[in-house]
Amino acid sequence: MILSLDLHSAADRSALAKRAATPEKPSLIGLSRVELAETLVAAGIVPERQARMRAQQLWHWLYVRGVPAFSEMFNISKELRSALEERFSISRPEIVEEQVSSDGTRKWLFRFPPRGAGRPVEIETVYIPEEGRGTLCISSQVGCTLTCSFCHTGTQKLVRNLTAEEILAQLLAARDRLGDFPDRDTPDGAIVPAEGRKVSNIVMMGMGEPLYNFENVKKALLIASDGDGLSLSKRRITLSTSGVVPEILRAGEEIGVMLAISLHATNDDLRDLLVPINRKYPLKELIAACRAYPGLSNARRITFEYVMLKDVNDSFADAKALVRLLRGIPAKINLIPFNPWPGSNYQCSDWETIERFADFINGAGYASPIRTPRGRDILAACGQLKSESERMKKTDRLALEAMMIAGHGA
Ligand code: SAH
Ligand code: SF4
Repeated sequence: MILSLDLHSAADRSALAKRAATPEKPSLIGLSRVELAETLVAAGIVPERQARMRAQQLWHWLYVRGVPAFSEMFNISKELRSALEERFSISRPEIVEEQVSSDGTRKWLFRFPPRGAGRPVEIETVYIPEEGRGTLCISSQVGCTLTCSFCHTGTQKLVRNLTAEEILAQLLAARDRLGDFPDRDTPDGAIVPAEGRKVSNIVMMGMGEPLYNFENVKKALLIASDGDGLSLSKRRITLSTSGVVPEILRAGEEIGVMLAISLHATNDDLRDLLVPINRKYPLKELIAACRAYPGLSNARRITFEYVMLKDVNDSFADAKALVRLLRGIPAKINLIPFNPWPGSNYQCSDWETIERFADFINGAGYASPIRTPRGRDILAACGQLKSESERMKKTDRLALEAMMIAGHGA
């Protein structure tokens, strides 16, 4: 049964909407420290000699305490706070919808104000709580230029790249809603220890291809991993790519987070069909880029994602080919049961087939966890994210529910 809870009341919703960014005021979120200092000086709010100190002060409020309003920055003078308020915004995106799955997974539909002449955009972000950790699945684009044939997001055209601010705002807004800035009001505003955090990990596995929005993703992830701010270890941040080969090396050198590759096939003929970017960057080039990924080691393995599609890529021969292809690369293979959506032409492999596949890969020395589908009842699983304009009609939702009951979804 589909459980769809709208968490907040009308009053709650209107309070959140009031906090939503006003389009005409530029946001201070997503700027590097240097840019933040320069912005304050250029606005004539802060003299040059104070710029670094003020930028540092703001940084602390924005990313350690996570306050969503200048008025809460109590060690900054009233005059400066109102000058900041007048010129800039640090508000969160509007939360159009918040859903909670029966398994505790949460999904938000966030709305961002227009950029320039554009229209407001909506994207989805998913929080997956697990024993000992919580992972936030962040979107990098509205829609996607790529058209992987098993992915629902791939049926939606690219609307635009998200800005660094919008990428970070997903983390800040999720932490707000989860109560994950508990030290917001304490006098010393201590950094939350990594173990105590609700969001302990982030994965760039939401909507979009992060390496086609390189600069903004880089900026956002460098801020998310800044040790004096949000302070997420780069070992706890994973960037997933369908295989934008020229940017993989750069991602390793300039961002330095963990890498995941959406592999899904072990030969070019099949990968051309499933992940069409393969026609541009075939397997040989992709695997070579993986071997050259900076910092690659047993402690920093690459995750290879492999969606299990019935009678398409799930044979014993496929498992053997997979092991052969990855030989010598420190790797973990993540088997993802296919998540169905109405109109998709695939079925998920049978559970026994997935287990046999996993056992074989395991026997060859690779960790091969089967990704437990999470949040299926709220369409929060991999490849099911879409924006509001493209959300499912009720009839489609019912069709999907019937598919899941019939067991196609594993
Ligand atoms: N665009 C990036 C990141 C987002 S997709 C990428 O492709 O890597 C995150 C993962 O979900 C990818 O491995 C993607 O191939 C997979 N995925 C997409 N649709 C899916 C579906 N319907 N069922 C299971 N996994 C899916
Ligand atoms: Fe885009 Fe990734 Fe979906 Fe492919 S799998 S269409 S790259 S979001």
